[in-house]
Amino acid sequence: MTATALRHDWTIKEARALLELPFNDLMFRAQAVHRQYFDPNEVQVSTLLSIKTGACPEDCKYCPQSGHYNTGLEKEKLLEIERVVAEAKAAKDKGASRFCMGAAWRSPAKKDMPYVLDMVRQVKSLGLETCMTLGMLREDQALELADAGLDYYNHNLDTSEKYYNHIITTRTYQDRLDTLDNVRRAGMKVCCGGIMGMGEDLDDRAGLLVQLANLPHHPESVPVNMLVKVEGTPLDNVDDLDPFDFVRTIAVARIMMPESHVRLSAGRENMNDQMQALCFLAGANSIFYGEKLLTTNNPEADHDRELFQRLGIRPEQREQAHTEEEQVEALSEAVEYERTRHMFYDATRESA
Ligand code: SF4
Repeated sequence: MTATALRHDWTIKEARALLELPFNDLMFRAQAVHRQYFDPNEVQVSTLLSIKTGACPEDCKYCPQSGHYNTGLEKEKLLEIERVVAEAKAAKDKGASRFCMGAAWRSPAKKDMPYVLDMVRQVKSLGLETCMTLGMLREDQALELADAGLDYYNHNLDTSEKYYNHIITTRTYQDRLDTLDNVRRAGMKVCCGGIMGMGEDLDDRAGLLVQLANLPHHPESVPVNMLVKVEGTPLDNVDDLDPFDFVRTIAVARIMMPESHVRLSAGRENMNDQMQALCFLAGANSIFYGEKLLTTNNPEADHDRELFQRLGIRPEQREQAHTEEEQVEALSEAVEYERTRHMFYDATRESA
């Protein structure tokens, strides 16, 4: 079978038509595309360390880390490099191949850059892939991070351009696109997606997907989050999204960006096993596990392991794990490790 060609000229009308397909037709198409590019029974598993939590000056209406809302979140200063490196080393010893670090900043301050760069260098020197999410980056900051060895940068568009100012007023959509451009031009890989269930309509979901798919290069990783309503944030009382509309969004992301890892991200703790299985069938092939997803709860890590076993899913890219038995063992060790630590959470976050 000839692989579906990558396209960068999607229209809202096309994306909307996909989102409106009969559910079974959409799932069939998404699964067919998925099998051309990926092993359908492998899912990448990631974790994230928050290197600085809360008191963010941005006003993202979904985010408990925003300093604009009173959510009772405990603020934390930038973690010491030694602590971050120790966490990274422990994660590597347990089989992790990529280490993600997130800070709740509008953008990194000049005084913080040397620490952040040192973190990247030291984590990288352990032989781990590195990923960060630090807010907006100027061109020079992106180049510095790339030079230090940063492999991935996470920066979410969150929603469509049309709906953006209903969600965030302290920055523009173009600010986001500029950072993505700076990251790409510095040679780093991009992790970029959005959040569903923020009161957006079908055209907004189509608009976000078109925006992502029409970037000059598709993001290597596309997190699709379901809003986690947090008391104290302005989106606390927004209407629930139909879970099938969430699954549809994953399926259309899979069809429009066939080579990307589509990540089932925040909101997973509110999904039952059947819904998560539908998301995998729709083409999601990456999750975060651990005690927390940034600052929101995440399903128990051992439940994830159980679900993988029930569905016959293997974790992708477990280093030094070759047989199925070894892969399950490696995941068990990583899960156990997650349960005994307090700083890691799974992540996506995506957004900062
Ligand atoms: S999503 Fe990121 S940028 Fe927005 S308030 Fe939260 S931490 Fe700040």
